[in-house]
Amino acid sequence: MSRTLFVTTALPYANGSFHIGHIMEYIQADIWVRTMRMAGHTVHFVCADDTHGAPIMLKAQAEGITPEALVARYAAERPTYLKGFHIEFDHWHSTDSPENTELSQDIYRKLRDAGLIETKVIEQFFDPVKGMFLPDRYIKGECPKCHAKDQYGDACEVCGAVYAPTDLVEPYSTISGAKPVLKSSEHFFFKLSDPRCVEFLRQWTTGNNKHGIAHLQSEVLAKTREWLGDEQSGAKLGDWDISRDAPYFGIEIPDAPGKYFYVWLDAPVGYLASLKAYCRKAGLDYDALIDPNSDTEQVHFIGKDIVYFHALFWPATLHFSGRKTPDQLNVHGFITVSGEKMSKSRGTGISPLRYLELGMDAEWLRYYIAAKLNSKVEDIDFNPDDFIARVNSDLVGKYVNIASRAANFISRHFDGQLRYAGDESVLSAQWSEAALDIREYLQKREYARAIREIMAQADLINQTFDAAQPWVIAKTLANASEEQRRELQDICSIALAGFKALSVLLTPILPALTGRVARELFGLDRGFIWQDAEVLPKHIAPFKHLMQRVTPEMLDNLFPEMEEPKAIPGGEEIGPTISIDDFARLDLRVAKVLSCEQVQGSHKLLKLMLDVGEDRPRQVFSGIKSAYKPEDLVGKLTVIVANLAPRKMKFGVSEGMVLSASHADEATHPGIYIIEPSAGSKPGMKIR
Ligand SMILES: [Zn+2]
Repeated sequence: MSRTLFVTTALPYANGSFHIGHIMEYIQADIWVRTMRMAGHTVHFVCADDTHGAPIMLKAQAEGITPEALVARYAAERPTYLKGFHIEFDHWHSTDSPENTELSQDIYRKLRDAGLIETKVIEQFFDPVKGMFLPDRYIKGECPKCHAKDQYGDACEVCGAVYAPTDLVEPYSTISGAKPVLKSSEHFFFKLSDPRCVEFLRQWTTGNNKHGIAHLQSEVLAKTREWLGDEQSGAKLGDWDISRDAPYFGIEIPDAPGKYFYVWLDAPVGYLASLKAYCRKAGLDYDALIDPNSDTEQVHFIGKDIVYFHALFWPATLHFSGRKTPDQLNVHGFITVSGEKMSKSRGTGISPLRYLELGMDAEWLRYYIAAKLNSKVEDIDFNPDDFIARVNSDLVGKYVNIASRAANFISRHFDGQLRYAGDESVLSAQWSEAALDIREYLQKREYARAIREIMAQADLINQTFDAAQPWVIAKTLANASEEQRRELQDICSIALAGFKALSVLLTPILPALTGRVARELFGLDRGFIWQDAEVLPKHIAPFKHLMQRVTPEMLDNLFPEMEEPKAIPGGEEIGPTISIDDFARLDLRVAKVLSCEQVQGSHKLLKLMLDVGEDRPRQVFSGIKSAYKPEDLVGKLTVIVANLAPRKMKFGVSEGMVLSASHADEATHPGIYIIEPSAGSKPGMKIR
């Protein structure tokens, strides 16, 4: 039975470039979409930029441009990433669009007509200089509990306390620096505490779609149970504040001058806006597609950080505005890099753009991410050594290798003709069964399992090929009997039939590579579909090189160790004058070297553990290996830049920088000399 699917990924916030977390989600969804399309289902796969809200408005102001211009800048770079990683959305839209305005306002009116909108006057911090209400993230002050300075309005990063912005001691606006004042304002609320909403959400969160698949994964369901409460404990859900006061970059609330929808109200509506714009472009009937009684399945891929919005607010918003509700929420975990959580503010992680610019194969990353993903809400880790091993040993060494070994015998000795000695229907049935299993894993988003099975099959093919030793027969082929010739042809044909089947199964993961295999090696005039796995090939074209191996140097470049100092002949001029305030921004501290060791695989770096007078030592990588033996540094005092943003390197995170002196041209004037404070100074002392 052919299915119709409406699939989305979470809308990225349009105040920055894509990071590796976005790309991981898109790859996960793209593999699933391709799996379904190969099975003959119709999939409408859309996304959009999430454009509204205070952060974009304020960032644009700080840059002296309009929010529209800021959003347009990031929208313009999206295709480079999407094309680069073979992510095939049907349409990419924007929440700052006529479709989204119309849909958001219509949804709001329906909720209001259903009696689910109410207004309440609330008191909030207001920036009197800037003339705007302040979101929690734009208020800082002293933690009411531990009295740490400069803590955000919602939680303390030092002691972990959670509080309201009004609890802060000496609060200030991070936008103007002004002391915020309390001001009251009328806000609009979606009444999620209404018994109708609670009842609907209890039923929807525990429900299944028409294929018997639960709307929510079990871990996600457990979370929503906590939030929703049960019959005994009663509903815990509070009403949802959906309005913000002007000035705000967003969609105006109908009949409420100066009030805008909170960005999280109109962001998911962007899924529908994008579909609607796509339908117009493609000549599809949008209303029929998302009619509550239609057969269309609505599937959202999202990260675990936005479950609350998608499992509670979004289905309730849709249901009570008379719309189709989601059929499946596919929630994934985060991607870490060498065990470190990716964080934009700390600047760690892999740059997807750098990956592409280095000429690294996008399908290595697609393969690697697929090899790690399952249907659970688990974090996955990008580990450089593991990446190299999986790409080189498995993808190239096991899978690609089959074709490169078997195809040459067939081209050279049999004019590209394949011939099977045994019962072809048995071999065909064997691949038909394997394909069914693997397709099932992919449909259930058990990608890691699918790849394990595919690689196990590749192992079997290689073992059979090795055991038959076709190269021995090939060597004496001039004097070989017809029987021996047939045997060589059979061995290679079986291996190539296996290679073809595996290529079919890998197509959702490696669309470009397998597209080449289909066209160039097997002479198809289209990409693979699932049925191709069981069709034994009769002929091949000469084998062309398919995929190169990844080198450790590429990973080194992806995680640069240190920028090379620019060589200036004859010495360095004194830099431009700075003020005392510029200097004061540097926090230089005395540090004691607790331990120091070589870094495996690096010719420049030493790893130091430093006592900087804090409750735990800091790890710092320093490019001083050419000048110091690790054991000579232990116990020494030195100076580090202590407030330098931590940097992710291939070997771990560096939490500061050791100061050292050197000549601008190291080639002619070798030598690096670390800075040592005079005896008597103590770890943690500040350099002033
Ligand atoms: Zn605190």
